[in-house]
Amino acid sequence: MLGQTQAVGLNAFAAHVVDVQASVGSGLPGFSVTGSPDASVREARDRVRAAIKNSGFTFPDLKVTVALSPADMPKVGSGFDLSMAVAILAATEQVSSEKLVSTIFLGELGLDGNVRPIRGVLPAVIAARQAGYRRAVVPIETVAEAALVEGMDVGGASSLKEVAAWLAGDLVLDNFHRTAPTKPPPIPDMADVVGQHEARHALEIAAAGAHHVLMTGSPGIGKTMLARRLPGILPPLGLEDSLEVTAIHSLVGELSAGRPLITEPPFVAPHHSSSTTALLGGGTGFARPGAVSKAHRGVLFLDECAEMSVKVLESLREPLEDGEVRVPRRDGVAVYPARFQLILAANPCPCAPAHDVDCVCTAVVRRRYLGKLSGPLLDRVDIRVRMDPPGNAALMSGAGESSAEVRARVTAARAAAVERWSEFGWRTNAEVPGSALRQKFRLPPDVLRPIELFLRDGRVTARGADRALRLAWTLSDLRGTDAPVEDDVAQALLYRDRGATW
Ligand SMILES: [Zn+2]
Repeated sequence: MLGQTQAVGLNAFAAHVVDVQASVGSGLPGFSVTGSPDASVREARDRVRAAIKNSGFTFPDLKVTVALSPADMPKVGSGFDLSMAVAILAATEQVSSEKLVSTIFLGELGLDGNVRPIRGVLPAVIAARQAGYRRAVVPIETVAEAALVEGMDVGGASSLKEVAAWLAGDLVLDNFHRTAPTKPPPIPDMADVVGQHEARHALEIAAAGAHHVLMTGSPGIGKTMLARRLPGILPPLGLEDSLEVTAIHSLVGELSAGRPLITEPPFVAPHHSSSTTALLGGGTGFARPGAVSKAHRGVLFLDECAEMSVKVLESLREPLEDGEVRVPRRDGVAVYPARFQLILAANPCPCAPAHDVDCVCTAVVRRRYLGKLSGPLLDRVDIRVRMDPPGNAALMSGAGESSAEVRARVTAARAAAVERWSEFGWRTNAEVPGSALRQKFRLPPDVLRPIELFLRDGRVTARGADRALRLAWTLSDLRGTDAPVEDDVAQALLYRDRGATW
């Protein structure tokens, strides 16, 4: 006797439909699973057996084999439980329905027969839809997430019994979960930031061109406060990006049932003592996305970055370069998207004096402290800004512009960049390679004059000149002009030079 249905196997960010075939026949009574199951899938046998019995069905006292195919794809996690139980019920003719072969079943089973939520339902359902399936049964807690996939008919189940009743046509599964929608926590507003005119402007330029930023300044000067406000001035995520970001957070298991779709750029701030695994992803069994992927299409904020180990800092090079991260695993490599905007913050020196206290570090110690950031990592940071304490005049001048006002300018500037670069595959000025800026999009000599002067005096390196060019395009986009003028280039040179005292 045979019973067949389908589930989805997740292999990092790649998901594939898996055929689940149960055969029940003569032989020594037992229950085996074939097709590269990992330990957690093998443990499913106990859960599936108990769930079937405790839902009022019979577990056959025969030889039961569940084959998961394609066999060579590694199967990880508890998400196959429900499909295995359904396939066994079908093989023993305890359920029968034409829906069996056209539906994807996702969920873990409790010993009592309840369906429990699993991670990664959104990417799994997206993969099922792409494979041509139009119907999925998922844990009720994740039904809102699954329902984000267009063209997919989803039903939320809370028990194996409900799934069987639905297959028999006796029950309609809910396509929503009875939890009140929750509002995302508000992003703090730029209007709260007093003074810091330069740093605010730097952040606006950074947002407009997707430039990475290094902020230095005394502790308590407001570096974290400013960085937390960056998502509020970035454009909201488009639908495609929203789905991609939500799918990553679904794999992390951090989506709330009442707020399935992430529409604002995420803000991720790992501690400076974080390991490379926490930052890049990994772990045993299922390779989890790390901070760089959670920050995909959003902001990765590294506070006190000079306290991070050189190894951890250097590990950021690959995602910064490629927009994705390759996480080594026992059975190969997991690839996750990781295109984020990097905000580095650092105290000027190890003694980290408050702004009205004198530093006790020697000149050598001061240089060495930020020196560890130098090289390939800093080459990718287009904007460096040193924050000083706001003067009394700034403190008296009251609130600055709101995030909404700044976001409007940023959104317009980004749209201009998209229009200019999209045929080359770049979405933001920060992505444009230096060679393109120097050749195909070379500016007229009079516009480039400030850079030529700086280069001749050795006040800027060739790489620094490329960064200044990228910034100049962003300044031009913010002004709403077609191409940078000499003043944009001059300003850009100053911007990247400010605070560059090491
Ligand atoms: Zn010091």
